[in-house]
Amino acid sequence: MRSILLAPLLAIVVGGCGPKYTEVPDDAIVHTDRMGYHHAYWHRQMVAADFVRPGLTPSEIIPEGSVLVDLTHPFDSETLYWPTDERGFHLEQVEHGRTKAGYYYESNRYSAPEHGGTHLDAPRHFAQGAPGVDAVPLSRLMAPAVVIDISAKATKNPDAQLERSDIEAFETRNGGIEAGTIVLVYTGWGVRWPDRKRYFGDDRPGHTDALHFPGITEQAANALVSRKVAAVGIDTASIDHGPSRSFAAHRALATAGVPTFENVAQLEMLPVRGAVVVALPMKIAGGSGAPVRIVAFAPRRQQP
Ligand SMILES: [Zn+2]
Repeated sequence: MRSILLAPLLAIVVGGCGPKYTEVPDDAIVHTDRMGYHHAYWHRQMVAADFVRPGLTPSEIIPEGSVLVDLTHPFDSETLYWPTDERGFHLEQVEHGRTKAGYYYESNRYSAPEHGGTHLDAPRHFAQGAPGVDAVPLSRLMAPAVVIDISAKATKNPDAQLERSDIEAFETRNGGIEAGTIVLVYTGWGVRWPDRKRYFGDDRPGHTDALHFPGITEQAANALVSRKVAAVGIDTASIDHGPSRSFAAHRALATAGVPTFENVAQLEMLPVRGAVVVALPMKIAGGSGAPVRIVAFAPRRQQP
């Protein structure tokens, strides 16, 4: 037996999908759990037949009427890490060229801090004994997303924050944020990547006393916890804004078991509602964070 979360969610959220992706087989067992997550179970053979037919291109396996958006910055020598993590991402060439046996062979070795680039914060980053990266449920990493836009106030004030009132205003305009949603905060900071001075507000190595970038308040974090969101993401270096010394939003979310995504890219590509996000971190056992590849299935924009 196999658990498949995404297909029923796509059917509900994206709409307009072809039958291969919207129909849960008749013999599937579907239930909705306490957190509002939908689960369907069916046999491996059925999955193989209907979902992984050979020869499909990536654009054919995403739901009809949607586009695939990469929300991930590349990992390279320019990748931004916290100012105190001065070593950053390293890719070291190990083998590169023709072997004695005559064939070409290439391999590298990489190293990096957990927290930098587009990455996941596991709850244990700020909550002792809370789940590490490998223990974050997949249901928190693959879910429908909403995008709350605070770019207007961030343009005027680099220390701007998502506040509880922004969440309430969003819900008045767009409907309530349902349990199991991934909430993404769009500040407009993604286009500053990888310019350290513009992204962090300060490019002095090792210094964290003059950082300026947007984040979310503790009250906003608690409001999202009360809505039982799956995860929270932002297009800045931290869920707490640059001047924070207490990391209160981190602590509120971590304590509630809510993972966060930081340095999320291309949030301007997503609609307010209707995208489904898949954010899969490297499964570092016991890790407090990990690099994550985040993609979204987003409804294709209607041509005017
Ligand atoms: Zn982090």
